[in-house]
Amino acid sequence: MKGFEEKLDQYAELAVKVGVNIQEGQTLVLNAPIDAVDFVRRTARKAYEAGAHNVHVEWNDDVLARMKYDEAPLETFKKFPEWKARGFEQLAEEGAAFMTIKSTDPDLLQGVDGEKISEANKASGQAMNTFRSYIQSDKVSWLVISAPSDAWAAKVFPDEPAEKQVEKLWEAIFEAVRINEADPVQAWKEHDELLQSKARELTDKGYKKLHYRAPGTDLTIELPDQHVWMGGGGPSKDGVHFVANMPTEEVFTAPQADGVHGTVTNTKPLNYGGNIIDDFQLTFENGSVVDFSAGQGEETLKNLLDTDNGARRLGEVALVPHSSPISQSGTLFYNTLYDENASNHIALGSAYATCVKGGADMTSEELKEAGLNISITHVDFMIGSENMDIDGVYEDGTSEPVFRNGEWA
Ligand code: ZN
Ligand code: ZN
Repeated sequence: MKGFEEKLDQYAELAVKVGVNIQEGQTLVLNAPIDAVDFVRRTARKAYEAGAHNVHVEWNDDVLARMKYDEAPLETFKKFPEWKARGFEQLAEEGAAFMTIKSTDPDLLQGVDGEKISEANKASGQAMNTFRSYIQSDKVSWLVISAPSDAWAAKVFPDEPAEKQVEKLWEAIFEAVRINEADPVQAWKEHDELLQSKARELTDKGYKKLHYRAPGTDLTIELPDQHVWMGGGGPSKDGVHFVANMPTEEVFTAPQADGVHGTVTNTKPLNYGGNIIDDFQLTFENGSVVDFSAGQGEETLKNLLDTDNGARRLGEVALVPHSSPISQSGTLFYNTLYDENASNHIALGSAYATCVKGGADMTSEELKEAGLNISITHVDFMIGSENMDIDGVYEDGTSEPVFRNGEWA
């Protein structure tokens, strides 16, 4: 049995070596919550040991973020610091690797003026446009992982005594990212290869569209002619193999931006930047949301859809079997990195350039022509369940089962 400290170090090492795969002389940029200070220090140490020449940490703090929303006037949220956006671009152009540690309290922004939130999301989305395009075309190696905060752990394990909640969430994270395996790095290698081969198999199928059926869902998603399925890790522009999400259980590609028709119903609550949206339904025509409703967080959903034109269209379609290890844990994480890897999901907003052949080198105009959606946002939401069937439809109209009852057919 591994001790807690050993697991923390192994997780930090996994993030550095398999996640961003830090290279000799590289800078690591860490976006991190102050709640995770101990883990951040361990990660920085592992990065230096792996050859990083500089670890730059951008700290964030839920308490200060909430304070600002409560105290600062609306005008404040319409501006995003240019120096910060340019700084990230410069670091990416100089070849840095980027790691983000997420721990947001799912209820952080409950009750905050929705206009402030939507202005802030628009301002950061626009200012970070270039940097986001670097990320979405894998120009740099990047990684999103999570570490517990008190508030997040309390939301996930409300019935546990307070002193046990964070510990339980750490254990759930360790299990999901394979730290409980004897050799986590080797376990990831095998898992990574499995996902990549699944993705290749689907790319070779060359489906024209996918047809989803489940309670509250009857949705057809057309795929671009040149679409490529992705899964597990892949190379950055410099040829460094990295894994962008830990955990990751999905294979995904991009939908044809104007080729989505029908209605879809979510199956897990969506934590959108500190507000929960749940029991919602979206209806698409020609790729765009024409009707929507939500039992919880309808205003937040409306603000998300109004972010820009592309926010009403899909930018990702991802397949995850209902029997995935995270799903089997039965834990609802209120954190998209975890919940999306327990469920089939789709995303509103921009598509990953790497999801069409040659996409990493295309301009945004060329990506648009290839069928991909362009937006300043990208928000995954969960639609899978044990009741979901998906058919793959070929160009000639014939079809075959891809998913039955939430599992690969
Ligand atoms: Zn995804
Ligand atoms: Zn996504």
